Amino acid sequence: MLIDSHCHLDYFNQPGEQAEVVERARLAGVGELVTIGVTLSQSREAIEIAEKFDNVWACVGVHPNHAADELPVAEPEAIAALARHPKVIGIGESGLDYFYDKAPRDIQEQNFRANIRAARLSGLPLAIHARAADEDIARILAEERALGHFDFLLHCFSSGRALAEAALDMGGYISFSGILTFPKSQDIRDIAASVPPERLLVETDAPYLAPVPFRGKRNEPAYTAHTAKVLGEVKGMSPEAIAELTTANFKTLFRKAA
Ligand SMILES: [Zn+2]
Repeated sequence: MLIDSHCHLDYFNQPGEQAEVVERARLAGVGELVTIGVTLSQSREAIEIAEKFDNVWACVGVHPNHAADELPVAEPEAIAALARHPKVIGIGESGLDYFYDKAPRDIQEQNFRANIRAARLSGLPLAIHARAADEDIARILAEERALGHFDFLLHCFSSGRALAEAALDMGGYISFSGILTFPKSQDIRDIAASVPPERLLVETDAPYLAPVPFRGKRNEPAYTAHTAKVLGEVKGMSPEAIAELTTANFKTLFRKAA
């Protein structure tokens, strides 16, 4: 069984569509999914979706692109309060996005730190969105780790080797998406090759970033296997072995999903 550790099921908003997407995932061997929060209000929607399906979990948090949507920045306690729901297994996604720069960078940093504190308060892992902000992500992680422990993963990995190594040194996990399958992503495959097996996760980030051979189409959780297959090739493992490994890693990091 595979697990899609990061998707956005709320984007599949036609009547009955979420049930179809979850069923197609099941038929493709994807037994569990995590639907992700991007604002405080939308995180409540993620919880409602997770309540509808036995095999769907939720994360709650505020995405850097939405950091200035609902000001003032969410209090860590407010995020952690949502995380008490039994279907919420993680915090996020949060982080920094200097590619889109949709929120001022100081607000992005405040928001990232609030989500980190929510991870610490709740004891749940944080799904980190890092785009064109490697140095500041590494700096903030190191500063916040000095204040107290929290678990985390770099989701949809597309950063440089230095951030991967900094994250791994802190005990972080790294999750690979369809980007891993793109012909031009040799640098990402090279980094994946050097990540210790016990720190690897897979995801779709659906509806974005469909893997080869669906590139350019709307992505969905059923396609997790295509990314897992390429990750298996990079690591010299069979599709069955990479599924077993990444599922075991998921259950170790997201302890509440056990
Ligand atoms: Zn993201």
